Formats: sequence, structure tokens, C-alpha cells
Amino acid sequence: MSIIKLLPENVANQIAAGEVVQRPSSVVKELLENSIDSGAQTIKLYIKDAGKTLIQVIDNGSGIDKDDLKLCCLRHATSKITNSKDLFNLKTMGFRGEALSSIASVSQITITSNCLEDSNLGNQIKIEGGNQTAFNEVVAIKGTSISVKNLFYNIPARRNFLKSDNVELKHIIDEFHRIALSNHKINFVFTNNDNELFNLNKSIFKERIIRVFGRSSEQKLIPVEENTEIAKIKGFVFKPEYSRKTRSSQFFFINGRFIKNNHLHHAIKTAYKGLILDDYHPSYFIKIDVPLETIDVNIHPNKTEIKFDNDQSIYAILISSVKHSLGQFNISPTIDFNSNVNLNTPYSFKDKSANIPRVEYDQAFNPFNNLKNPVDVKSKDFVFESYESDDKLNVVDEMNLGLSDSLPAFQLDSRYVITKNRAGLVIINQKRAQQRIMYEVFLKELSNKKNPSQTLLFPLKLEFDNSEIEYLKSIKSSLIHLGFKFTVFDDNLIEISAVHPFLNHELINNLFQDFIEYGDISENKLSHTLNDLVAKVLSKHSSYNTNVKTNQKAIEMMVNNLFACKDSRISPFGKLIHKSISLSEISNFFK
Ligand code: ADP
Ligand code: MG
Repeated sequence: MSIIKLLPENVANQIAAGEVVQRPSSVVKELLENSIDSGAQTIKLYIKDAGKTLIQVIDNGSGIDKDDLKLCCLRHATSKITNSKDLFNLKTMGFRGEALSSIASVSQITITSNCLEDSNLGNQIKIEGGNQTAFNEVVAIKGTSISVKNLFYNIPARRNFLKSDNVELKHIIDEFHRIALSNHKINFVFTNNDNELFNLNKSIFKERIIRVFGRSSEQKLIPVEENTEIAKIKGFVFKPEYSRKTRSSQFFFINGRFIKNNHLHHAIKTAYKGLILDDYHPSYFIKIDVPLETIDVNIHPNKTEIKFDNDQSIYAILISSVKHSLGQFNISPTIDFNSNVNLNTPYSFKDKSANIPRVEYDQAFNPFNNLKNPVDVKSKDFVFESYESDDKLNVVDEMNLGLSDSLPAFQLDSRYVITKNRAGLVIINQKRAQQRIMYEVFLKELSNKKNPSQTLLFPLKLEFDNSEIEYLKSIKSSLIHLGFKFTVFDDNLIEISAVHPFLNHELINNLFQDFIEYGDISENKLSHTLNDLVAKVLSKHSSYNTNVKTNQKAIEMMVNNLFACKDSRISPFGKLIHKSISLSEISNFFK
């Protein structure tokens, strides 16, 4: 008896679905791409519960005729390729004929379509878990509407694997950004739970970027353009001062298709060298058109990776064109012709040359100087007077650590503190120690039931992109608990009107950036609570100036405070704070 059986069609499709459909955002991508391929001028996307309950895409494209409608959810059903040669001449988004069959095998899908301009009758097919349940003639205008309900309803393990609505929505928004940017000549409407997130009219590329990322992005853009035989490059990069710590807003479109490519990313970073800090990332929106026969898009099932024949040349062209644009921008800053310069300039300043803005910092500032007692820290960055701590960090019991009364401790290279305990020598990383001490102080404060809130004299406006705003909204109640007050405005602005008295103005921007950076990493890494996150971020910023020469008393104080911490070994960011060299190790040195 043969033990080999052919897999039933719907099982094979479910397996294929594992490749194509990873999460709601993959469905959104495939449906939007199909609509684009159908020649639609307007595409509407509706989702419910971050796509877990419903993903619907309605387009006014070519439509699907009755016979094709019956076929389009079968595996390898595609109208886009007839022979293998076609693979090398692809202008469309799809070609594998796998998306609809995969999606249909793991959801409840309804496709309604009409391919005739002058008829208001179309057809509707319903498929559940890969099995057709209905096929009817229905009233429909020209175009196609596909609704995908209850994704993974028949594969509970995969459904359970989906992340929170916030995370899944962020993936969908990311996908939408990519498609909306590369198809700026198409109108898009995107609604989540009856809340319209985007309403984009067809426009030129620049206008689309501004509509997607907010009005204020206009002033950040520098155009990039280069035409060679190998590649035509056109797009925008952000001015260096708008680079960010998060790797957001980075887009390459090769022949209209979004791709990820570390090599090209590296080219752009190289062009920015010297203009931005190493851990900052430039934002860019770069379209690269290359002859179709010089790329292979078929190397990745999601088609976000691509292989070029002229990898190295494109790399070099990209560096030089971005450098050129950045250079030009430095020599001739963009002039706003809509405003009359003379009117904006006070008379006494009219003929003066502009000063280069300076970053001011207090060189004499020493975080240890003001340490009267362990928690009464007064630093430029924090307003400590307004909180009282009745729970001071205790000076360590000498017996526990074996530190002697007059503690032998000294600084090495302004970065390390060397001390001893009974077992031998202890080398402390001063910056990390300070982070740990401050982290525990902050965490204790923030864990208070109710946190004080201090109204800002001048409310602070900060700008974020849509997905960041969605993320901030989702943690808003926790932020309120921490003493923040903020309002979200249209145009991607939030206005912060009150903060915890710990904070000062300069810190708030960094703090929100870090909320996003750390929150963005998604839940698995975000195992800590929000308080923990805030304490971490605060401790990080409070330790900027710690690599400085410090007086003896402060060194001793720091050592004592460190060993009074709940965990003196590891910094809030998981780094080793101190290392010991035991007496036996030392004696080994001299054997
Ligand atoms: P592919 O896009 O790789 O061809 P899909 O499974 O995504 O495969 O789609 C199968 C076929 O269904 C497409 O080739 C196309 O003919 C048809 N189709 C899907 N969506 C639409 C749509 N929105 N408008 C018109 N035709 C569509
Ligand atoms: Mg497709």
C-alpha cells in the first residue's frame, strides 16, 4: 500500500500561507498590491481590531470576471504570468498566484467584483478555510471589494501568536506607508475602527511624503536626483539635524516596489558621515529605477528583498548623489520665497551675519559635587527640591561588603573607580554605577501611587509620525499616571502641558524619543513596566556627565550608594557595573 499521499489542496494552501501570510499586515500588503495591479485609481482600506477581525480593501480597478472569480483563490491562479520568461519582465506587484489562495485558506473571505463599466451586476464568492461556501450574482459597481474576516480563525496557534492590537496596527501602518508612498498617483483612504487615519489624494511624490508624515516634514526634505544608465535615482533625504535615534522613515523603492537593503542603507549612512552622530539614523525616501532585466525580485517570498546585477555601482552612485545634495544644501540653504526676509528680521540684526547656534553645556558641572546625602541630588537637569524622600539609601553595612571605614577608593582615567573589598580588588564603571543609583531612586519615586504633576510655563510641542502617535496614545493613561499631561493634535503634533517635576524641558524631547525607541522594540523586549522604562530613560540621561574627575568624598559616596542598591552588579541596561579581581588571582599574577 502506498504511504505517500498528496496533500489535500486546502492543507497545501495553509502551508503556503505560512510563507505569505504572517500577520494582518501581510494580508493588507497583498490586497493593496492586487488593487494596484488592477489599475485602480482609488483604494479604500478598512480594518477592525488591527485587522484581526476584518481587513477590507475596496478598489475601482479592472474587476474580476465570473470565471476568474471562481479560480482566483486556487493555488497558482494568476493572470499575470503565462510562461517562465514573463518572470523576468515583471511590472506588476504579484506574479506567484499564491496570495489569495493562502489568505482564503486561513480566514473567511468574501470577494465581490464587477468587471463591466456599464453594468451594476457583479459576482460574489465566499470561501471559509479554503472551502467555497457561496457563489452569487450581486449588485456591485465596477471594481473589486475583498473582505478578510477572522484571520487564522482555523489555526488557533497562529491566531494566539498575533501581537497586541497596537503592535499589529503599527505593522499595518508601516505597510501602508510603503505602498502609499510608492503609489502616490493613487488615492488612498485608510480607516481603522471607524477612525480615519489617512485620506490621501493623488499627488506628486513630495506632496505624498508630506501628507503621510505631516506638514512639518516639508522643511526637512532635501531633494536627491541622479540619472545614469545603470540607475535613475530620485527622491528626498531629511536634513541631517532631523536624523533620529530610531530607524524610522527609511524607504527604498526599486522600480516602484518597496525593498529593504542593508547595503544601500549603508551607502546613505556613509553619505551622512560626519554630519550626524553615530547612533543616529537619517530618514530617506529614495526611488531607484533600474532596467528590469538587471534585477531579480523573486528571491524572497515577500518580495521585499531584491538582487541587483550592479550592486557596487548603485552603491557608489547613491553615496555620491546624496552627498552632493547634502553639500548643496549646506552652501545654499533653501529659501522660503513665500516670506519676505526683511520683514522677518529686526532692523538692528539686518546686516549682521548669522551666528552659528551653539550647544551650551556647563563644563564645570559635576554630578557628585552636590551630593550632600545620597538622594538629595541637585543637578542642572533635575528639579529635586520638589520631592521629599523619607527613605534615604542606607550607607552599607560594613560587614556585608567588607569595605573599610575610611574607604580606599580612587578614580582611574575619570571613568573607573577602584576600591577593595575583603576578597580583593573591585573595579567600578563609574557611569554605569551612577545609572544604577539614579535608576533605583527614580523607580522608587515613580512607583508612588500618585505622582506629582508640574504644569509647564510654556507647553512643549513635539512631532511624531502616525504610528508613533498611535503608540503614544496607547500608553497615554500610564503617562498620565506618571504626571504627564498631553493633548494629541492633528498634523502629528502632541502638546505636553505638564510633566513630573523630575523633568526639565530639555529632557522631555529625549524622553519621548526614547519611549518610542524602547517601546518600538515590541513587547517581548518590553517586559518591563512603563515606570521601569521611564526610570531607565531618566537614569540614562542623568548619567551623561558622569565621566568626569570627581573629588574624593563624592567617589566614596558613590561607592557606598552603589552597594546599597538592590542590584549593584548590573546597570539598568543590563551591563556589568563592577568586576572583582580576587586575591588568589592577584597572587597568580606573580607565580
Ligand atoms: P497574483 O497577484 O500573484 O497574480 P493573487 O493570489 O494575489 O496572485 O491574485 C490572483 C489573481 O486574482 C490575480 O492574478 C488577479 O487576476 C486577480 N485579482 C486579485 N485581486 C484583484 C483585484 N483587486 N482586482 C482585479 N483582479 C484581482
Ligand atoms: Mg497578488
